Amino acid sequence: MLVLWDIDHTLIETRGVGFAIYQRAFPTATGRPLDQLAQIAGRTELDIMRETLRVNEIEPTDDAIDSLAAALIQGYNDARNELATIGRALPGAAATLRQLATDPRVHQAVLTGNLRDVARIKLETYGLDTYLDLDASAYGDDHADRTQLVAIAQLRATGRTGITFDNAHTVLIGDTPNDIKAATAAGVHVIGVATGKSTADDLIAAGAPVALTDLTDPARTAGLILNPPGVV
Ligand SMILES: [Mg+2]
Repeated sequence: MLVLWDIDHTLIETRGVGFAIYQRAFPTATGRPLDQLAQIAGRTELDIMRETLRVNEIEPTDDAIDSLAAALIQGYNDARNELATIGRALPGAAATLRQLATDPRVHQAVLTGNLRDVARIKLETYGLDTYLDLDASAYGDDHADRTQLVAIAQLRATGRTGITFDNAHTVLIGDTPNDIKAATAAGVHVIGVATGKSTADDLIAAGAPVALTDLTDPARTAGLILNPPGVV
């Protein structure tokens, strides 16, 4: 089973540090203060950067996007201590990843809207990177459309392992309706986890066959991952 974890509010939370980094990176990249940030929950960074540039009246050219991405990555690198002291891994996240990492039937990776380098910095900060195959993963700089990230991760995971992970053997875990919709549109299994802004009911309304309140029961979560409910 290929397990594709969302990162923010599923495995970790930066508790405001991510926003502070955006506020610092935006003027570095554009020479202007950040007046408005696009809605971010469940969206890819490419999508967020384009809209954020636009709502701040800057044309989202490839150069503008590249500059902002570079400033964000530098900002996360510079903020590792801040991330470590203010942010946290969510309760049960490390224990769940650790338990699944010992199961030979499971290959764990991420499917995240974060830029690849930002995802790596966040996971390293909380010691979660050791359980995840970051080369079998898909990121917010691979495609603006989250649904497209599913096939990208499946192909990379197959390239890494030699195992073909079809839709019946792929499960995505995330905290937003956008995670649920990406999984259902791609045709893979999905499990909601209500540790973000959305409630378990919200995630079920978005199409999740099951939604956990959190990751504090690793045995239950592992059981659901190995036998995900819902037809694919
Ligand atoms: Mg999330």
